[in-house]
Amino acid sequence: MTGKKILEPPAEWDCGIIISDIRKNGEPCVRDFGLELGGAVEYCGQNFFPASPLHALITANRESGRLVIRVEINCEFRVCCHRCLNETGIAIEGQMMYIFSLRQSGASDEKTSRSGEGDIGEPDGAVDIIVINPLDAAIDMSPYIWENMILNLPPRVLCAEDCRGLCPECGSNRNETECGCTGDDYDPRMEVLKKLM
Ligand SMILES: [Zn+2]
Ligand SMILES: [Zn+2]
Repeated sequence: MTGKKILEPPAEWDCGIIISDIRKNGEPCVRDFGLELGGAVEYCGQNFFPASPLHALITANRESGRLVIRVEINCEFRVCCHRCLNETGIAIEGQMMYIFSLRQSGASDEKTSRSGEGDIGEPDGAVDIIVINPLDAAIDMSPYIWENMILNLPPRVLCAEDCRGLCPECGSNRNETECGCTGDDYDPRMEVLKKLM
């Protein structure tokens, strides 16, 4: 598997939320995006090849001068097993919430982001508040969709929990063949080296 690698949200992604569509005391503004990745996503030394569009569901509400935007994503990828290197499929999904403030930055009361006072209905108050320019017409959701995807990629993919991997002596796939290697060449010094690495 070769091809283009992408390191950031593709410029073609069109996933802006029009701020005036998010009404006070209204129904949530819901948008559904199917986004093409157009290349492999590299993460923790692995290449994740998209096997489906990245699907993003955005739900936005306006609450006391803030926009509360929930991002839910799911996507399927093809990736090499960490042990046997065979290609395998994985599906990821994730959900995150972002809070945007429309206040002018520098306004006197813009210091509440992590106070934990509960005024935004978050039990732990750990959600950062992103200040946006009140003159902006739309919020580009692509960095937030991208972040949600990256945070849900596994650091190590296995084709199966019990994948037996490659034989360290002859290199054959031990899921497919019994190569008969005895492991007599085991060298304890290699273990020391591995720990150092
Ligand atoms: Zn495997
Ligand atoms: Zn072997």
